[in-house]
Amino acid sequence: MYHEVIDVMQEIFKHDFGNPSSIHGLGRKSRSLIEKSRKSVAAIINASVGEVFFTSCATESNNWILESSVSSLGVKHIIISAIEHHCILHKAKQLAAEQKVELHILGVDMNGMINLEDLETKLSSLDSQVLVSIMFGNNEIGTIQPIEAIGDICKKYGAFYHCDAVQGIGKYPFDVQNLNIHFLSASAHKFHGPKGSGFAYIRNDAIIAPLLYGGSQERNMRSGTENTAGIVGLATALEKSYTAMLSNRSHTLSLKYAMIERLEGSGKDIRFNGYAGEDGLSHILSISLPPSPKSEMMVMNLDIFGIAVSSGSACTAGIEEDSHVMQAIQHPTERKVIRLSFSAFNTMAEVDIVATKIIELLG
Ligand code: PLP
Repeated sequence: MYHEVIDVMQEIFKHDFGNPSSIHGLGRKSRSLIEKSRKSVAAIINASVGEVFFTSCATESNNWILESSVSSLGVKHIIISAIEHHCILHKAKQLAAEQKVELHILGVDMNGMINLEDLETKLSSLDSQVLVSIMFGNNEIGTIQPIEAIGDICKKYGAFYHCDAVQGIGKYPFDVQNLNIHFLSASAHKFHGPKGSGFAYIRNDAIIAPLLYGGSQERNMRSGTENTAGIVGLATALEKSYTAMLSNRSHTLSLKYAMIERLEGSGKDIRFNGYAGEDGLSHILSISLPPSPKSEMMVMNLDIFGIAVSSGSACTAGIEEDSHVMQAIQHPTERKVIRLSFSAFNTMAEVDIVATKIIELLG
């Protein structure tokens, strides 16, 4: 988290703890902090203030948008890509299992890109209301989808478009007025804000029913006492990320390039998934390791040295198997994958340490 975000949140925990729904002074102070945050988030994505709703995370935003677009907007078909985050994939599958919608999953190429023609063909074959949910950037391999073109195609066929923008907000510009996007979701902890704080953008002409009912907070759209510190932390982090967006991005990209160069130069048969260059997210690098027991132990062994990386596999029913993303890009199962994420706070010296360790651990 940005230190400024921590400071601002601590102030709220200590002094501005009023319930924003209360009419006393303390409550009104909290309310004004929330509305100021909403204004700031709306301005950054070029939405109107009434189109921004604070939630507990992107998982909530994504579940809400899928669930309620079906109940409120007459959606009968959902089209997603095969590499959506589980909070889209599992929710869409649940809606299909309940026979509320028909689910269509678009395959991706070996770099994780959807095929726009496939999307268009699918849309042209459906004659009832469709919701397309295709993410901006993939969290495992960093592939960036052409969201502008996707939005245009959705518009052409009268489909609603939801973009899971978790990996992009705060790092790339989003102008919702100029994208044919009805819904967008984000999580604060992806841009140096707190965990457990997110938002949903819901376009004025695509109003959906709430997911949570109760005290009528968020203008009746998302009940539950507001997480004032989390909301202000989110807005502060987004403002700071937005101001530093270009320099942060060029910094993380240079870290990523340096890592690629070091690993490629090692002669260890190391490959990269997705677009290793600027066409992929600047902060994500998916590394495909040569088949060997040493590769299998890489995540654990790096952890021993205090280096935190993720793996490209998931534990399903006690069995380790390639993630759905690796399966979708047909990554060879005998190779192990680790994912590195770079932040504005990482340094070249750290890249050097990590690259050296990976090469050393491969033996
Ligand atoms: N979507 C994407 C692309 C993500 O990377 C993540 C989290 O990593 C999520 C959704 C879910 O975010 P959260 O866990 O904050 O709900």
